[in-house]
Amino acid sequence: MDRAALARDLANADFDGEFVDGSHVLYERLRRVNNGLIDRRPAAIVRATSKRDVQKVVRMAAEREALLAVRCGGHSFPGLSTCDGGIVLDLSLMKEVMVYPEAQTAEVAGGALLGDVDAATLPHGHVTPAGVVSHTGVAGLTLGGGMGWLSRRFGLTIDSLLGVDIVMADGRLLRINAEKEPDLFWAIRGGGGNFGVVTKFWFRTHTLGPTFVGRWSYSPREAPAVLRRYAAALIGAPRELTTMVVYTSTELRITALWTGSIHGAEAALAKYGELGNATTASLGAANFIDLQRASDERMAWGRRYYAKGGFVHEIDDSLISTLTDCMTDVPNPDSEMYILQLGGAVDDADDGDTPYSGRTAGHYWIIEGVWDDPALDSACTSWGRKSAARLAESSLRANYVNEQSDTGKDIALNAYGEEKYYQLARLKSRYDPHNLFRLNQNIEPRPWSAPK
Ligand SMILES: Cc1cc2nc3c(=O)[nH]c(=O)nc-3n(C[C@H](O)[C@H](O)[C@H](O)COP(=O)(O)OP(=O)(O)OC[C@H]3O[C@@H](n4cnc5c(N)ncnc54)[C@H](O)[C@@H]3O)c2cc1C
Repeated sequence: MDRAALARDLANADFDGEFVDGSHVLYERLRRVNNGLIDRRPAAIVRATSKRDVQKVVRMAAEREALLAVRCGGHSFPGLSTCDGGIVLDLSLMKEVMVYPEAQTAEVAGGALLGDVDAATLPHGHVTPAGVVSHTGVAGLTLGGGMGWLSRRFGLTIDSLLGVDIVMADGRLLRINAEKEPDLFWAIRGGGGNFGVVTKFWFRTHTLGPTFVGRWSYSPREAPAVLRRYAAALIGAPRELTTMVVYTSTELRITALWTGSIHGAEAALAKYGELGNATTASLGAANFIDLQRASDERMAWGRRYYAKGGFVHEIDDSLISTLTDCMTDVPNPDSEMYILQLGGAVDDADDGDTPYSGRTAGHYWIIEGVWDDPALDSACTSWGRKSAARLAESSLRANYVNEQSDTGKDIALNAYGEEKYYQLARLKSRYDPHNLFRLNQNIEPRPWSAPK
């Protein structure tokens, strides 16, 4: 179906929300996603405001065999929530969050951002663990797994997921959880947007007391020694502590979050300021919401990104040597490499409990090219791709679907491993046999059988 006919059909549908095509004043803004490298022109954008809208768009896309991109926060690095010529189903107006403190649950609409959830839960002293940038979408992050500052303490975002409302490829709306449609509920906890459009999430919330944050910068010249001492300092760390390293051409920064008792804060954090000659240092009580927003500006809409991550058990000499080598030819000051400490509650679940893989890893690294000038596109993407490939050689085989700037079947296969990939592919053929939901790290719907 050509794009004009598709846009005409959608324009004539009676949506509760808004229809936007190329002639609309908001089209140029709404066709864009977080990553400024992505420049696609959908035939139509539907800004859904109800599950009825979502069902209608899904049915129309399926009947017309149109390309369908589903959008929550628009933060997919490879731009999987926009497309050329097809439909963008934009849920970003559906962002209500209801908190039930006594039941320790939160009900979150399918277009909400992480900041919407924090803003609703934190006044009650509650949190749901998620990611580290507040303008990231809840839907994309959760469906891939969800790692952040509170993963060691409370687990991945999917570990707090109690159930969802999901619109399937045939337009049916299902309410699923661990008892109702357990196979499908398993698949969406890491399988990405492959199985349907989530219009509502139910999360367990957790009580969060006062939080303490330490931040120290070291010269990159000291990086190998600081990283070696950092790895040693982490041995036996309690799950109330989470640390992150950010490595750029100008600094090696260590941030440490303490969520345990106030009395233990200083002892747990101070040693990360003694790993070398710190050039800046701060340590004290901090609002969790400020930590969640600390990288918002750096990762602003419209900047250009190339990101790729991987898991390792530990930060050993060989990894440190590869990291420092990669940073010697970083093309600009904004590009970085970061390492998030995992372990703790992430490893409480068994690997087979969810498609998300890598639970036994001690750390997650990510190479992140960040730049503004299109003239740097080639230098920054090739640095990111080359560095990630080098780090992958000493990383675990598992990977994280949510932070992959490249796409292709090998990405999903590597992320899940063969056994889980084939299990997901069988479920995909059951729930989305025509691959309507294919703008994701795609799992092909074929009657796969796992190799012997
Ligand atoms: C600045 C930045 C910071 C990040 N930080 C973290 C982090 O700390 N921890 C972490 O784990 N990850 C992080 N990520 C990765 C992030 O989890 C993924 O980019 C995720 O896909 C973003 O979700 P989104 O809803 O914003 O994206 P979108 O681009 O809207 O969607 C991403 C994918 O999810 C699908 N999708 C979107 N909404 C729905 C829905 N309602 N139902 C079904 N499918 C849907 C889309 O079709 C697409 O395939 C970060 C990414 C960025 C760009």
